[in-house]
Amino acid sequence: MIQVASAAATHVGRVRPTNEDSYLTLPDLVLVADGMGGHACGDVASALTVTAFEPLGTRSCLHADDVTEAVDRANQAIVSEALAHPEKAGMGTTVTGVAVVDEAGAPHWLVFNIGDSRVYRIEGGVARQLTVDHSEVAELVAAGRITPDDARVHPLRNVITRSLGMSPPPVADTWLVPVEPGDLFLVCSDGLTNELDDAEIAELVTRSGDIEAAAAALVEAALAAGGHDNVTVILASTADDRPADTDSLSETDTLTLPRKNLDASDVPA
Ligand code: MN
Repeated sequence: MIQVASAAATHVGRVRPTNEDSYLTLPDLVLVADGMGGHACGDVASALTVTAFEPLGTRSCLHADDVTEAVDRANQAIVSEALAHPEKAGMGTTVTGVAVVDEAGAPHWLVFNIGDSRVYRIEGGVARQLTVDHSEVAELVAAGRITPDDARVHPLRNVITRSLGMSPPPVADTWLVPVEPGDLFLVCSDGLTNELDDAEIAELVTRSGDIEAAAAALVEAALAAGGHDNVTVILASTADDRPADTDSLSETDTLTLPRKNLDASDVPA
């Protein structure tokens, strides 16, 4: 039985007045949504996205269609809200995450993305971006017109080319990855990746003792680097309930061991 363990952390940052990022951690799905729009309605768009995905928390088994239908529900909810409240016109949000879905009878990670929030796979001390940013600068990099380093400081770096809250509805990119014990994914908003490069991210996660510590360390490092934007991170791993093979216990494995925290308040007086 595949169990997903997750840890999340979010912070408004050092510059922005409000946190327009939202996130959701369900037993089989985690997501980050980075809201945007005039009149500080980005938080409405990202919260509506979380609301659209919340019903998936009661399912015993998810399929890829459940995720794409939730994406469509989120888009419809944002479009309707903007039509009903003209002051919210133009609000939108990214959404990206991972879900464990049944595909042909076997569990797979479904990675999904709209916008420039990201999913990374952390493996062997390396952070590898799985999602493709839907942004002007990502297209310029892909076309060979600017380098990834140029993209980090480019004036168009905040312009995204696909988001929730659009008509016609946007289509999410999706990827299917077989589930293995020890898998570790990072889901994050650009408030992390605009402050830290991939090597810094991998280093912080790998040297943290567990996913809670890693999530906190990433947010702290983004704040220390300037905290120019809201920052949200989720780490999700497969918590294998088979006995650990101590012969091959690596640093990565220790991140996925099931842990139980006994809070003092849980002890009967
Ligand atoms: Mn952002």
